[in-house]
Parts: sequence; structure tokens; C-alpha cells
Amino acid sequence: MVRVRYAPSPTGTLHIGGARTALFNFLFARHHQGTMVLRVEDTDQARLIPGSEAAMMEGLRSLGIVWDEGPDVGGAYGPYRQSERRDLYRRYLSQLEASGRAYRCYCTPAELEADRQRQRAQGLPPRYVGRCRSLTPADWAEREGLPYVLRLKVPSQGRTVVQDLIRGAVEFEHAVLDDFVLCKSDGTPVYNFAAAVDDYTMAISHVIRGEEHLSNTPKQILVSQALEFPLPAYAHVPMILAPDRSKLSKRHGATSVEEYRAQGILPEALVNYLLLLGWSPPEEREIMSLAEAIGWFDLARVQKTAAIYDLKKLEWMNGQYLRLLPIERVVDAVRPFLDARGIAVQAGPPLDQVVALTRERARTLVELAENLRFFYEPPQAYEAKGVAKYFEEPAVGERLERVAAALELLATWDHDALAQTFDRLAEELGLKRAQLIHPVRLAVTGRTVGPGLFELLAVLGPGETVHRVRRAAEAVLAGAVPIAD
Ligand code: GLU
Repeated sequence: MVRVRYAPSPTGTLHIGGARTALFNFLFARHHQGTMVLRVEDTDQARLIPGSEAAMMEGLRSLGIVWDEGPDVGGAYGPYRQSERRDLYRRYLSQLEASGRAYRCYCTPAELEADRQRQRAQGLPPRYVGRCRSLTPADWAEREGLPYVLRLKVPSQGRTVVQDLIRGAVEFEHAVLDDFVLCKSDGTPVYNFAAAVDDYTMAISHVIRGEEHLSNTPKQILVSQALEFPLPAYAHVPMILAPDRSKLSKRHGATSVEEYRAQGILPEALVNYLLLLGWSPPEEREIMSLAEAIGWFDLARVQKTAAIYDLKKLEWMNGQYLRLLPIERVVDAVRPFLDARGIAVQAGPPLDQVVALTRERARTLVELAENLRFFYEPPQAYEAKGVAKYFEEPAVGERLERVAAALELLATWDHDALAQTFDRLAEELGLKRAQLIHPVRLAVTGRTVGPGLFELLAVLGPGETVHRVRRAAEAVLAGAVPIAD
């Protein structure tokens, strides 16, 4: 029975690395008809950020990543917040103490600091020196009332081998693992202890997490062995690095699910992009649904090498989804972006028609909102490049007047009737059709690029089109064309 967990610490927002880890766990669980657990690792109360847990859950759900057990949905292995599992930890800590696998350490911060300084001076790695390792329960009784931490008695010889499903066997010499702390003097259990206890008591079969945790795994294995727990399988998924192979950080732009949303990335596209950060499908294909990914997902296809984050690719992927998703879905997704820009769509042409025309050219919802603005707001100014090219000739003003007059008389307002009108007028004026199309596009949209002119006029409607063409004609004739910056 496959049981996996995603175990975020509620110390911020849902980051792309965390979302990817959650996604791989979710896909693995669904592929094997297993169970996905959400465990909130909130033992370190000092680092907690209020609201973070809810924000992370919302971020996951927005991507279609759902869990079967968790603090909000419950389950048979709860509670699912570490802060609510203290009694359980206390029991296992007592067991470790009683069996002699853990010991009380009374070293003061000053003593530990002096040890570290000595080690540094000798060029040695920092490591607990073992001062309290051989104290007996009788010695403990003598120190009654003094603060102490609990440390695991790590065998001084030998090594611990992590059998990783992605990386194979990874060995850690005990000489480099010191007697690490399991529980602080205030009773707070430490991550490596709590995670091992929780993975066992929640019957986790596979621990799938980021490579940055690989060095924690031998410690969790040692805790599990000391408690005689069977081990879960481990799989460490590769790091996500910036294009220059440095650690991904703020300076590389958005890295949280919330920020991507604000920048107009669709969750469908983000999740598809995350899928490819370290995993590849068995088919040569990049665009795939979550359902397809569930069918294919396999740890054997997770790469060992770091995944490189590439914003251009994410935007490309988003552009693909803008074209691919049902119109209504894109309409819903773009609405908040229109609202935020004060683009009022109630009075203008139907939004679904406008989106159908403009989505081809947008990579993000922000771009889409900007690209469709002109359907609802007449241009206040005209693109400089276009003005230089199409509005400089004095005759253009008259031509635009002719276009307006001809369009005003049109009985049927559709693509074909518009095309015919432009053809006829071009012939009358001895011009090529393009010599009318470009200035009219600029007059109507303020821009030089956009959807096909006849499609766009058909949607914009006769009243607004004629009005805009006329306004531009007047501005050109008066030699007072406002230029957009
Ligand atoms: N709370 C840890 C983190 O957020 C989870 C580590 C784990 O998956 O074991 O990085």
C-alpha cells in the first residue's frame, strides 16, 4: 500500500520547489492508487508565519494537488500537525532514553561554542565532542533540575547507507555524523527525530522529497533503527537551479505559486511546467494533463541531475495553455486581470469573442488583458512606430474618412462584407489593400500588431469602428496625432 507525504513547514508561501515536491508525491500516490498525506511540520514555533499553512494549502489546491489525509480533512493517522503530536514524541523519546539509545546532554551553550572554536582552529568540522555521552541515569539524577537536550547515541564506527530510489546507494560515514540533538531543552522535538517518528507512525511507505534533505536521511534512518522502526523507501528529487546554476532566489524573479498567479500564469500551465522539472514522460511530449501524468508517473524517470528553471519556457507553456483551454476557462481566468486594470467589459463586445481573437498572441494573462484592452477602450494615443509609418502621409486623413464613410453604409457587418468593402475602396483609390488595413488598424487599436483586422472589426462592431476611424482621421488632418509613449 503506497502512502506518501508532503511535509511543508508553514514558514512562508508555497515555493516552486515545494510545489514540485508535492506534485511528485501526489502523482506517485495516484499512479499507485495510494494515499497522499499532508503533514504540517510546525514544531519550530519561532519560525512559524501566521496564515502560511492556509496559504500553502490554497496554493496546492489551485494547482489541482489534493491530499487524502491532512490537518483540514482528517484521517486515521492524525493529528497531522506536528505541534499536536507532542505526546507521541515524548513517548518515543522516553523509549530512546530507557533503551540507552539517547542520552541527556547538559553541555551549556558556552561549552559548545568553545568546542566549536577549538575545532575550527584545528581545521576540523564542527561536531559534538561526546562530553555527556557516558553519563549514567545516576549522573542524570545528580543534575536534576538542570536544563538538558536529548542526543542520539550514533554508533561511532561504520556507516549508514541510504538506498535512494533515484540515486542508488548513498553512504554516510558515522565519523561525520555526530550525536545530534533529538529534543531541545524546552521539550521541542527536532526535525530529524519528529520526521522519523511521523513517517513511521503515519505508515509512510515512500519518502519523496527534495535533494536538499538527502543529508538528513541518514539521521532519520538512525533514529528509526534506534526505535526499531522498519524503514520507508527514500527518493530524493533533484534541486531546481537558476539558469546560471546558482540557487534559485528572489533575484531570478517570481518563485512562489502566488507570484506566478499574480503574473498571469495559469495553474494548468504551472503544474505542467513543474512536471518537467526533473521528470520526463515516456513519450516525446511536453504538454500533458494531470490525468496523463498520473498514468505515466514513475520515479525511474526522475533525473539525478539538477533541473534548470527557465522562465521563458514557463511563459511559452502558459501561451500554449491560453490557446488550448476552453474559452470559458480563459475568460474566467482573465477577469481578475481586467478588473485590476479597470477594463470594464460590460459595455463592449462579448468577452469570449474578444478572448478568442486575442489569446493567440498572449503568453500571460497580464498580456492578454493588455492585448484586449482596446476592444473596450478607444486608443488615447497611437504607437509612435505606427504613426511614423502609417499616419505621416497627409493623404491618410482623407483615406480614413473614406473608409469611415464606406463602413457606415455597410448593411451586413461581418468578416466577408468588411473584406469586400476594403477591396472595393482600395481599387477606387488605386491603393493596395494593405495601405488601408495598416492605418485603420492603428486608428482602431492604437497599435500596429494584433488579430486579423476584419475579425477584430467584426467583433468591435460598426458604431465603435466608425467612431474611432473618424477620430483618427481628424487627428491626422489636424496634424495633431497623440503619440503613445
Ligand atoms: N518540513 C520539511 C521542509 O519543509 C520537510 C522535509 C521532509 O519532507 O522530510 O523542508
